[in-house]
Amino acid sequence: MESTQVKLRIVNPDKQIFNDETGQTVTGKDILKQLKINNVWRNDIKGKYIGIQFDAFEFVFREGETLTVPATIAKHLRRNSIICVGSDKLNGPLVPYIEVVETYEVSAPDAVKSAPTPTTCPICHEDQKTFPALTRHLGQEKKKHPELFQEEKGKTDWEGTGTDGADAE
Ligand SMILES: [Zn+2]
Repeated sequence: MESTQVKLRIVNPDKQIFNDETGQTVTGKDILKQLKINNVWRNDIKGKYIGIQFDAFEFVFREGETLTVPATIAKHLRRNSIICVGSDKLNGPLVPYIEVVETYEVSAPDAVKSAPTPTTCPICHEDQKTFPALTRHLGQEKKKHPELFQEEKGKTDWEGTGTDGADAE
């Protein structure tokens, strides 16, 4: 299962994209202007949006809102958002109007849930929240399950009486 998530949004007007080959800088403002010229915006009851098709599904982007998707989908959506900015349709800079806000790893929910805290009871695995509460709780666990606390006691006794020397070399 994929665990890398990417937060996307429509390019910010302040964004600057520098092109090494042409030495030109395209700004977010230029890109937004081009989106208007290209008539990319649609309207629904919630206002204007841009829909990008991928895998028979339309991903909806709105101004000032982010959309979080798995990394592979993000890659395709950004590729599908590439437009030619400016009046030079043959040589104009090609830039995606969807930008990456952040990329992060998501761990499996089960792993998060089972991660014990220092105050988690090792017997019933319930978090006691504070150390005094854990100490009190362990006292009760000891009364309920004395067998679970015997190992340590037995070890201490064994050390105290380990003097018979029968296997000495
Ligand atoms: Zn417990």
